[in-house]
Amino acid sequence: MKYLTEFRDKDVANGVLSEIQKTAKQIKQNPNIKLPILLMEICGGQTHSILQYGLNTAVLPDVEFVHGPGCPVCVTPIETINLALELAKQPNVIFTSFGDMLRVPGSHENMFQAKANGADIRWVYSPIDAVEIAKENPDKEVIFFAIGFETTVTPITAAIHLAKKWGVKNFFILTAMVRVPPALEVILNDQECVINGVLAAGHVCTIMGSGEYEPLAQKYAIPIVVTGFQPVEILSGVLTCLKQIRDGRAQVENAYNWVVREEGNLVAKELINEYFEIINRRWRGIGEIPNSGFGLRKEYQHFNAEEHWKNIIIKKEAESNPYCGLVLTGKMKPTACPFFKKECSQEHPIGALMVSSEGACAAYHKVSK
Ligand code: SF4
Repeated sequence: MKYLTEFRDKDVANGVLSEIQKTAKQIKQNPNIKLPILLMEICGGQTHSILQYGLNTAVLPDVEFVHGPGCPVCVTPIETINLALELAKQPNVIFTSFGDMLRVPGSHENMFQAKANGADIRWVYSPIDAVEIAKENPDKEVIFFAIGFETTVTPITAAIHLAKKWGVKNFFILTAMVRVPPALEVILNDQECVINGVLAAGHVCTIMGSGEYEPLAQKYAIPIVVTGFQPVEILSGVLTCLKQIRDGRAQVENAYNWVVREEGNLVAKELINEYFEIINRRWRGIGEIPNSGFGLRKEYQHFNAEEHWKNIIIKKEAESNPYCGLVLTGKMKPTACPFFKKECSQEHPIGALMVSSEGACAAYHKVSK
């Protein structure tokens, strides 16, 4: 297939669906395997596609999707949002961020409210835009809110690289970037979260490579299939997972091989490795996960907003409700949250999962209108 429309073609999708049903029938012959097969899609972009195209109902009763923690806005803990708000209110600061973050509630306000009260907060589409703002405003200090998974770490690294090359001294990042495999391992270790297979996020694997998941597939004896975002791609990922389960295999397979390589993007990985090291990081609803984040290396601490404004101390706060964490870790569907479409809606979100364009609650909210 060459064109996007082909990945959304109804006839092709129906063809894959009937293969899924056939394979599920074969799985049913094995009395040790219970249906529905529970598959966790990691990425919030995949969750939105699944809901938008009705794949969640199309695969029933053989397969059920369990939504994973792959939304960077959703997993950023509240103390980091509070720190971002404090930094944004510092004198002489221009605070820049991707749009989704601006609506995520901190303990007392969100970025839009802080902006309305006078903070210079700007929505950018790329971290490089923030470096350009810094270049154009040498008398200001410009901070970029660096959130994202491995995919987004690449343009953030490019921005730091450019700032270094251009000699921009007034550019900083507030780092909250995370890695998928350690979070997936926490979920696979959790007795309350039972899943039979994983659909890994294609864009993350484009950078880091599918090979990163081999140790997890082996250790937890679980199929992990790298999958794209269009309906036919997601269904193909489901089918590949089911075939592994039917055959008693537990491997990493690449159902997105027109984009993803086992070794990933070596140029991007080398650049990331030059500027960032792997550190522990706190995740909303999960807590601290060892080796799950990227932090600036010692020699690049002059770009680190937390280091530059180290006098600002933010205390860790408990989550305002337990439901966001349960949804993030696949233990609860958004519709089971007592706040869903009541106190928490897209118009008045109380949790990040309702704000983000990749949040599971926002996905359910959109299709339930
Ligand atoms: S509906 Fe709102 S409060 Fe409930 S889990 Fe989703 S984002 Fe959190």
